[in-house]
Amino acid sequence: MLVGSGSFAQHCSPAYDVSMVVSELSTDVQRLLAAIVAIAQAQHIRIFLVGGGVRDLLLGVDAGRDIDLAVEGDVSALTATLLTQLPLRLVAQHTSFGTATLITNGSPARLVIDLARTRVEHYPQPAVLPEISPAPLAEDLVRRDFSINALAIELFVDNEILHTGELIDPFGGVRDLAARQLRILHPQSFRDDPTRILRGLRLAARLDLQLVPTTAAVLSDALAAEYLGLLSVERIQNELCLMLGEPSPAAVVQRADTWRVSSALAPGLHWSPALAEAELRLQHALATGQITTSANLLFAGLLTYSLNAAARTAFLQHYRLPTEFSRLVVEIGALHELLPRIMAIKYESALEQSLRPFSDAALLVVHYAEQTPASDRIGHYVQKLRPLAPLLDGRDLQRLGVSPGPQLRRAARYAPRCTARWPCRNTRGG
Ligand code: ATP
Ligand code: MG
Repeated sequence: MLVGSGSFAQHCSPAYDVSMVVSELSTDVQRLLAAIVAIAQAQHIRIFLVGGGVRDLLLGVDAGRDIDLAVEGDVSALTATLLTQLPLRLVAQHTSFGTATLITNGSPARLVIDLARTRVEHYPQPAVLPEISPAPLAEDLVRRDFSINALAIELFVDNEILHTGELIDPFGGVRDLAARQLRILHPQSFRDDPTRILRGLRLAARLDLQLVPTTAAVLSDALAAEYLGLLSVERIQNELCLMLGEPSPAAVVQRADTWRVSSALAPGLHWSPALAEAELRLQHALATGQITTSANLLFAGLLTYSLNAAARTAFLQHYRLPTEFSRLVVEIGALHELLPRIMAIKYESALEQSLRPFSDAALLVVHYAEQTPASDRIGHYVQKLRPLAPLLDGRDLQRLGVSPGPQLRRAARYAPRCTARWPCRNTRGG
């Protein structure tokens, strides 16, 4: 069943006028979409704005840097034409899923366009990638995760101007959005794909959503059946990675505690008021430009800060983290041990010597995670003393004629600048 603008109007305020919301997109995004749609139309392919992009437009929040388009037709052929006619670059393509990810070369800058063939999915077993076959949009919406993501708007072009069809909302997504509710589409949803539990966590934390009772009951059954344990480490790790990019990773952990799934992410991981406060301090320092170290890395450090030594080791063994992230977790453990002795260090030169081996990220995490004299002292070192250290390492100094020995050790400071990001991947293809 497709619900058009008639019943849509019953559920929502005039702020949800579809043509109005699409006109909220910036002019260069609209121009690009119009060009894509014109090429699709010439190939007799119907194309729809779908999923999170529609949800965010209806909410009036920034639709982010990716636009999801559902394509009723051959994605490979369409992609090939788009790449020859528009300033787009191919980032990834899964022909078996009928998906392609493109990125803009010019204006709008670095906008990601995800194209996915409309399809039905069949999950032969829990937690495995689905078998798929092409299907019209109405069936494609049925395979989606939540009612608020099972939304679509058909796009047309006339005289190079972008036009929209009605809002397609078969599961009452607009109603759920207005009521801030999270609802799966069928009782097998979490069994089919348990990553939806983790996707739901992120969404619920970001948009302050509550599970409807039927979905809460299905979640509880899915946890009892341990479906999350069937997911590959890579897929859970990818969700962790996406979590770090959320406006408040701590809020996601708080939901994870409420939903009783924190231990599936990392044994020992849990929310506390201290974590929330530390995150606020960190957010403020990042927003005001007091620190420039990668936010992604700092949040990862903060979330693992309260793990005990055994949980930290288990975490490192379980996931295959990018080097800078695993190193950070190790360093935080070592700093934990050093912390009780920090206040006993008398001279700044001795403090410098003790903290020199640690990265900025590790020191900043400890500084923002705690509010104790010891963590303040670490903050003072990393923010005030370390920047005064020469940005030359031992080899630079040797090249300048300083001979190896104590003098060189004193002169060469370790002052790494970290811009690490943990690149998340779409492991499922649209
Ligand atoms: P975000 O704002 O985090 O990008 P999103 O809803 O756009 O949220 P995407 O990962 O970009 O999330 O996925 C786009 C759409 O694809 C979703 O809105 C949803 O309709 C569908 N989708 C993605 N992953 C799944 C999944 N595991 N199961 C069902 N549908 C999914
Ligand atoms: Mg998206």
